[in-house]
Amino acid sequence: MKPEVQEPIAVAAPAARRSRQGRVVWGSRVVTVGGDAPVRVQSMTNTDTVDAIGTAIQCKELAIAGSEMVRITVNTPEAAAQVPYIREQLDRMGVDVPLIGDFHYNGHRLLTEFPGCAQALSKYRINPGNVGKGAKKDVQFGQMIEAALKWDKPVRIGVNWGSLDQDLLAGLMDENAQRAQPWEARQVMYEALIQSAIGSAEQAVELGMAPEQVILSCKVSGVQDLIAVYRELARRCDYPLHLGLTEAGMGTKGTVASAAALSILLQEGIGDTIRVSLTPQPGEPRTQEVVVASEILQALGLRVFVPSVTACPGCGRTTSTTFQELAKQIDDHLRAQMPVWRSKYPGVEGLKVAVMGCIVNGPGESKHADIGISLPGTGEAPAAPVFIDGQKAMTLRGEHIAQEFHAIVERYIEQRFGV
Ligand code: SF4
Repeated sequence: MKPEVQEPIAVAAPAARRSRQGRVVWGSRVVTVGGDAPVRVQSMTNTDTVDAIGTAIQCKELAIAGSEMVRITVNTPEAAAQVPYIREQLDRMGVDVPLIGDFHYNGHRLLTEFPGCAQALSKYRINPGNVGKGAKKDVQFGQMIEAALKWDKPVRIGVNWGSLDQDLLAGLMDENAQRAQPWEARQVMYEALIQSAIGSAEQAVELGMAPEQVILSCKVSGVQDLIAVYRELARRCDYPLHLGLTEAGMGTKGTVASAAALSILLQEGIGDTIRVSLTPQPGEPRTQEVVVASEILQALGLRVFVPSVTACPGCGRTTSTTFQELAKQIDDHLRAQMPVWRSKYPGVEGLKVAVMGCIVNGPGESKHADIGISLPGTGEAPAAPVFIDGQKAMTLRGEHIAQEFHAIVERYIEQRFGV
């Protein structure tokens, strides 16, 4: 017996977000963060900051790939001295991406002694676990906040379990030992991460920072740990949150772990900026972390960055690699063109293309796309129907199906999105 249908099935959508809205600014470029702003993509360079030209080039590559803010290490006086030149190089190249300075141990000195650096950066990352020990901690933290106030910059209080405030952790461990039923060690660690972040943020606000100019992060490298910590962090405060799985790892492992952790939290409305901390594989460009971060947001329907190419996985019905090659060519081509197309063809990032391997799902999937092709599977007639806006528009045959389909996609984009 058929069950009675009472109501339509709810459409899944990310939960509404609840953080305050801040801003990260460089010149006329204003990147809103938190509140109802889109979730922002962030990245970090792996060049030596002392190499101003190399760092500026990598910042440019990351910005072109879609990074809306780029973090650079500022670890020595020599590095701090180069920051204004990196900024200058970027401005000269017409790249207005805001730069974030990553400080550990000596940030208070560098931000005080290198005003050009403090001014050229658009945000300071402060790690409360590395800001100083004992009585120096509050003083040095205060000096960094003073610089942020003087130069009107937001800060990210970036806690990391690899450099957690050991005094705070030890205190919480002692407290835990007094409990009738002590918590698990990892729960004490969660608590320490959150207290370190929120406590430091409150300290910054007491020193004069506007709450919306304080962004928090509590990074750990385990997926379930990250989810537990951020759920609680989001419950306890309304500061904008920067989200990322620290030391995610290489290749597939790093990509999947980041996607798993970030997707769950983003679906719950948690996270205002994200970074995917991938270890590049030999020869892999640094920009891969931006591609993965953007894909996570696009897959969840939170942002749209590039046209999407739907391709079937192939099976025993596709014994040639033609459709794999065509899907890759189309995907590569659309991505490569985006820096130019963004301004030339407004809205093109929403385009949906399908490249399918045979008649089973090919025509159906192609009809759901703006433009799709169903290639002939093994044993099928050597003909490839093309669907445009849900209608069969033509059938391609012969040796040059790939080139002809390329040209059809280009023409479609020009006609539909050309100004
Ligand atoms: S569309 Fe055809 S080739 Fe592709 S996976 Fe499905 S059955 Fe296999």
